[in-house]
Amino acid sequence: MNKSYLISEINRLKTEKNAIILAHYYQSEDIQEIADFVGDSLELSKKAQTTDADIIVFAGVYFMAETAKILNPNKKVLLPDINAGCSLADGCHHDDFKLFKEKYPEHVVVTYINCSAEIKALSDIVCTSSNAEKIINSIPSSKNILFAPDRNLGNYLSKQTKRDLILWEGSCVVHEAFSLDKLIEIYKNNPTAKIAAHPESESHILKTAHYIGSTSGILNFIKTDTATTFIVATEAGILHQLAKTVPEKTLIPAPSVQDNTCACSECAYMKINTLEKLFQCLKNEGPEISINEKLRIQALEPITKMLELS
Ligand code: SF4
Repeated sequence: MNKSYLISEINRLKTEKNAIILAHYYQSEDIQEIADFVGDSLELSKKAQTTDADIIVFAGVYFMAETAKILNPNKKVLLPDINAGCSLADGCHHDDFKLFKEKYPEHVVVTYINCSAEIKALSDIVCTSSNAEKIINSIPSSKNILFAPDRNLGNYLSKQTKRDLILWEGSCVVHEAFSLDKLIEIYKNNPTAKIAAHPESESHILKTAHYIGSTSGILNFIKTDTATTFIVATEAGILHQLAKTVPEKTLIPAPSVQDNTCACSECAYMKINTLEKLFQCLKNEGPEISINEKLRIQALEPITKMLELS
C-alpha cells in the first residue's frame, strides 16, 4: 500500500475512533511521525495514564502495551504486531523468577518496567531507566534489594547508589551489542565528540561515556550540551528526534560488534511494527491486549508506587 494513502487512512481512523497513537523513540521514523506522542517508557506510561482516548494504539513492544492496559482497563489497547517482544522481558519467566525470589524472602523486589505483567505482579516496585536511581534511593538502607531483569542497569545502579543489589542475569540484545574497539576507533577520529550511553549498555561502554541516562535523558543532554558531535550508544531510532531538534549537531550511532552496513544498532523487536501494520491494527481494532483482572490489579500496585515517586 502506498505510504501517503496509509498516512491519510490512519489519520482518518484515528479521529473517527477517538484513538491515540503512542510511539516509543525506537520506532521507525514513519511511525514516530504519525504518532500523537513519542516518548520513553516512563513518559509513555504517564501519557497512557492520562489520555481520554477510547483506543490506545501502542507502537512499541508487548510489555509496553501491556503496561498501558494495566493502567487503562476500560480502554482498548492495541499493538500493531503482537510478536513485538523484548529480550529482557522474554528472558525472565514467571516460574523461574518466583523460585529466584523465594531465595531472598527479605529482599525488596525492584523490577525494571521491561518485564511481563506476571513479573510486575511479583514486585514491590517498578522503575524505568529515568527514575531507577530515585526508586532505589527511596528504599531504606536497612533493606536489601533484588533487581531484575537487566543486569547491566542493575550493576550501574549498584555503583550509583552504593548498594549491593542481587541481580537477575538478563540483558538487552541491542545495548549489549556495542563494540568497545569500534567505539574507541570512532572517538579517536572525533576527539571533541561526547559519548552518551544508555545504562542498559555493558560497563566497559559506560566507562567511556561522558553522559549516562535514559533515552529522554540522552535527548536532553545532546540538546543542551555545548559539544557539536555526539556518539550515541542506544537504539538508533532516537537519532530521528535528535536530527529534527538539533539539525546543526553531528550524531554518530555507536557501532555494534556485528558487521552491519549502517554501523548502528536497531532493535528488531521494535522495528517489527510497520506503518501498514499500524493501519491494519486501527482498522480491525486488533491485535488487542487483554489481561486477567486479578493479575492486572497485582501488577498495578508496583507501577502505581513508581508513578507516585516519579
Ligand atoms: S531495545 Fe532492548 S530493551 Fe528495548 S525493546 Fe529492544 S530488546 Fe527490549
